Amino acid sequence: AEGRAVEIREDAVTTADGEPVEVAANVGTLAELDGAVRQGADGIGLFRTEFLFLDREAPPDEDEQLEVYAEALDAFPDGRVVVRTLDIGGDKPIPYLDLPEEENPFLGERGIRRSLGPDRDLFETQLRALLRAGAVGEGTLSVMFPMIATVPELEAALDRVDAVADDLESEGVAYEKPELGLMIETPSAAFLAGELAERVDFLSIGTNDLTQYVMAADRQNDRDSVAGLHDPCEPGVLRAIERTVEAGHAGDAWVGMCGEMAGDPDLTALLVGLGLDELSLSAVTIPEVKATVAELETDDAEALADRATEATTRTTVSELVADTDTDT
Ligand code: PEP
Ligand code: MG
Repeated sequence: AEGRAVEIREDAVTTADGEPVEVAANVGTLAELDGAVRQGADGIGLFRTEFLFLDREAPPDEDEQLEVYAEALDAFPDGRVVVRTLDIGGDKPIPYLDLPEEENPFLGERGIRRSLGPDRDLFETQLRALLRAGAVGEGTLSVMFPMIATVPELEAALDRVDAVADDLESEGVAYEKPELGLMIETPSAAFLAGELAERVDFLSIGTNDLTQYVMAADRQNDRDSVAGLHDPCEPGVLRAIERTVEAGHAGDAWVGMCGEMAGDPDLTALLVGLGLDELSLSAVTIPEVKATVAELETDDAEALADRATEATTRTTVSELVADTDTDT
């Protein structure tokens, strides 16, 4: 299936038997919005906001951020735009933030841990800009939090959203409460997916970090003995995904995936079979993933997912995936 030229589909797709699957784009700069629209993305499933904070001397203020978020929403008037709050730390340093020297930055102060701690003022400014953008931009705004590991962290983040909404209300500033969710990137969040889902509208599985943490394999380490383990088709990771989707649905949340796994068309059948409601990937692959979804029978996809999640080795998973591929 690699690299086949496929038609761009602007409309949302369903499987051959009519199950809707949202196919959205990962976007890391404003410049990428155009490409996402052109490739037929249904919306943005991951808007990484780090770019706003990089290569400058001071953080962007509320109005500057408001403009950027509103522009993203205007690009998808009928779609959903999932903006992730600042995910700094780990592999994402920022010079003017006083980031600590840590022995294990990926196990350190990153993502929501900073937003609820040293970067709480930045977090508030970003949330103000987001809630205001929701009232200005055309598309539907969703906001999600990175690196959540505990229920109290999620509750603290949700409380900050409420507090910001109260402030805007009393200031008489127009705002809209967004749909709210979190990324499932830590094993703890996968185990707590049910309790987390009950508190939000959606979960989005970040397989880059989830794989790193489930497999204890640094995503940036390219030694064969480590990089070889950083594979989302490892049974341990697949089972974490499986339980996240099931628990998320039981908690009444929709469940998407925005890690790189979602961008591999060879894995689309497996992911649809696992029950993912949304896949978010880099724009160039959207036509191919949409075409793949449209050809799928849900029953076949579910049978594949059942067998893959029972597999004991990654090799078996790969064989199952490859077999399905040649059947179609
Ligand atoms: C992920 O971890 O899978 C993810 C989508 O986030 P990032 O790659 O930005 O850490
Ligand atoms: Mg991540």
